[in-house]
Amino acid sequence: MATADDNLAQIRASVRALCARFQGDYWRRLDRERDYPIEFVAALNEAGYLAALIPEQYGGSGLTLVEAAAIMEEIHASGGNGAACHAQMYTMGTLLRHGSDAQKERWLPAIASGELRLQAFGVTEPTSGSDTLGLRTTAVRDGDHFIINGQKVWTSRAEHSDLMLLIARTTPRGEATTRTGGLSVFLVDMRLAQGASIRVNAIRTMMNHATTEIFFDDLRVPQENLIGQEGEGFRYILSGMNAERILIAAECIGDAKWFIAKATAYAKEREVFGRPIGQNQGVQFPIARAYTQMRAAELMVRDAATRFQAGHDCGPEANMAKLLAADASWAAAEMCVQTHGGFGFAEEFDIERKFRETRLYQVAPISTNLILSYLAEHVLGLPRSY
Ligand SMILES: Cc1cc2nc3c(=O)[nH]c(=O)nc-3n(C[C@H](O)[C@H](O)[C@H](O)COP(=O)(O)OP(=O)(O)OC[C@H]3O[C@@H](n4cnc5c(N)ncnc54)[C@H](O)[C@@H]3O)c2cc1C
Repeated sequence: MATADDNLAQIRASVRALCARFQGDYWRRLDRERDYPIEFVAALNEAGYLAALIPEQYGGSGLTLVEAAAIMEEIHASGGNGAACHAQMYTMGTLLRHGSDAQKERWLPAIASGELRLQAFGVTEPTSGSDTLGLRTTAVRDGDHFIINGQKVWTSRAEHSDLMLLIARTTPRGEATTRTGGLSVFLVDMRLAQGASIRVNAIRTMMNHATTEIFFDDLRVPQENLIGQEGEGFRYILSGMNAERILIAAECIGDAKWFIAKATAYAKEREVFGRPIGQNQGVQFPIARAYTQMRAAELMVRDAATRFQAGHDCGPEANMAKLLAADASWAAAEMCVQTHGGFGFAEEFDIERKFRETRLYQVAPISTNLILSYLAEHVLGLPRSY
């Protein structure tokens, strides 16, 4: 009988085989043109990987978060970038955990098949930033609809998505009965509103990341698209954010593995002063240190994913996994550029592209400082700092 480890090894091998069809030249062209990896996303959809976390009863692959994390890690370890589509994997978690049976039956099978893309997650706003409770987009009841007005920023993949999970304020902050109350989550069908009540502008960034700013102008959303209870939205998105952090941490582990493999191979082969540069401890040690850092972070990612899967509270572990993995990938990126000397800067080595891509995870989906203040307050019991 196949064990969980056999299954995981098989998933990893299959993802590696799929990614081998999308080599460095594919990612370099997209990066240069700031283009979306349509073929790659279609291949992942076809293989059922983006539906990994959707239960089989809704047409998904019914995999665990440990297996989903392995998928994202392998994409990144192969030199690719899962940021174009990772949200299709986890954004539906809020619907799955907090939606009604009718909502799940209506949306999940189409999301699982890839017929409907749920790639956009609208949380961040220009004025409130990391302070999600301070967001200003409002949703006001009007009969059997909510009318949404406001603005989001950094809503990634909105141009490549049919649906958006949106959080908006339904009760003014001063009138909410609890500190975190008064926010609600909606599943917005963007196909119905594009151009009129939703305006999407692309934001060009230092790496190829299809991100946007979005303006809502009297957007009418039917009441049946409200997920769960009105006013409880903050709690719902927090549970989803743990999955997001763990999956993105796994991407960082994949990036770190890619940088380490690339640097190791180069250090063995590149000869200067009549010997391989990797013979010098000044070159070896940073590689060995990056490897150690990656392995330690990998353990935390595995622990967080296992806890999530078992239904245990995993807020501290998900946050620590994200912090450690993002630091490990960034340290490995820096080491890899240094190991390559001048060639680290050449486009055709892919290192500078991956360096730019992995830098993001110091800031998004949550910045390192915010993780540290969460741990200080909620794990160590230090005074609340903001
Ligand atoms: C490419 C990209 C894609 C993104 N995709 C999405 C998406 O799809 N959906 C979405 O909703 N958001 C998305 N984001 C937004 C991302 O989650 C935020 O950028 C991130 O949470 C930080 O918020 P901010 O940019 O407003 O920074 P700010 O909140 O303005 O913070 C700026 C700096 O100050 C620090 N800081 C702020 N407050 C404190 C404090 N109290 N203590 C210590 N330090 C503090 C922060 O750590 C940060 O370094 C994306 C961002 C980027 C860049």
